[in-house]
Amino acid sequence: MALTAQLDTGSLLDRLRGGEPITREHACELLKTSPAELPRLLAYAKELKERFKPAVVSYSRKVFIPLTNLCRDYCGYCIFRRDPGQPGAHTMTPEEVLAVVRQGEKLGCTEALFSLGDKPELIFPEMRQTLHRFGYRSTLHYLEGMCELVLRESSLLPHPNPGLLSAEWISRLAAVSPSMGLMLESTSEALLQPRAAHDNAPDKVPSRRLRTIEQAGKQGVPFTTGLLLGIGETLEDRVNSLFAIRDLHHRYGHIQEVIIQNFRAKPEIPMHNWPEPSHQDMLRAIMLARILLPEVNLQAPPNLSAPNYQDFLDAGINDWGGVSPLTPDFINPEKPWPHLLELERRTSQKGQRLKQRLPVYPEFVPAVMSRGGLLAEKLRQACDQEGYALRTAA
Ligand code: SF4
Repeated sequence: MALTAQLDTGSLLDRLRGGEPITREHACELLKTSPAELPRLLAYAKELKERFKPAVVSYSRKVFIPLTNLCRDYCGYCIFRRDPGQPGAHTMTPEEVLAVVRQGEKLGCTEALFSLGDKPELIFPEMRQTLHRFGYRSTLHYLEGMCELVLRESSLLPHPNPGLLSAEWISRLAAVSPSMGLMLESTSEALLQPRAAHDNAPDKVPSRRLRTIEQAGKQGVPFTTGLLLGIGETLEDRVNSLFAIRDLHHRYGHIQEVIIQNFRAKPEIPMHNWPEPSHQDMLRAIMLARILLPEVNLQAPPNLSAPNYQDFLDAGINDWGGVSPLTPDFINPEKPWPHLLELERRTSQKGQRLKQRLPVYPEFVPAVMSRGGLLAEKLRQACDQEGYALRTAA
């Protein structure tokens, strides 16, 4: 990508305010903004956020359900996945799922976030045996069954994150969950090269992930996606990834949330020596995401940027994502979620009101209600008149 000469921030801001669309070249320059110029751009991103959701920042009170940590992929930054027989390898039973959900209900949770490895049964006979024992043909069949169980037996709403999905599976899971998610992570094909983050991760081929997100769009399924920063992608890749998400959202209008997540190094992972993105890298990426997607909910996980996560409110986020009063972040277990009262304190210090939302964002609630059936009934019981969580707790 050819880069322009030194960016004139003031003139670019004037043009953006005048409605001129941002080019990829300018977007790339924005990711290189100097620390001195950054505050002006952050102020503009914050202005856009205030136009979209004035004085409100949301979060989802959730339980995390790691349905299985077996996975056929081997991403270089993953601490979650296991092979069968490795210490900690586990596939939850239906009873374990329900036990977590019941505890979550008592603590005012409204989301059951299902996170799991991608199609482990394709390479592990042990997973096929487990699924057979539970009475299911595949991990996705089991996930569907557990979403349905949660929907039927509790007041929580499921939000599955199972990896790549076909059109048929999107449709099946949409019948038992109001929203779902798949991190795009990056459109960079270079990450598939030997010794790169995705060199042994067949489900991380960018075109396949984009296809899943597009299929969800064709079916009008509220969808959460996002970028994982700092896994070997270039600044141009970050721009291209955000443009790809924006293009899909412009076509289908279904992207309910974009997450800007930072890679964190851990001693146990292959990428343990890899440099982490800086706080300023995060601020720049959030600012650019807000400029490109002024009317999409934007989230950055607070636990991965403690102690200064509140700075993200100045860059245009309007959501803290799922925060659990019960279960640890199994993807980053060494980074505890901030206590909700502390999150509320820091949010209100920035002049924002913290509001509990459901896994599906308020603006998408009417469309999900129109699907009818048990899902619509449970959603109606769970949300207030504005589409936020009815049953709130702090
Ligand atoms: S990040 Fe997801 S797909 Fe990659 S190894 Fe971990 S669980 Fe599997």
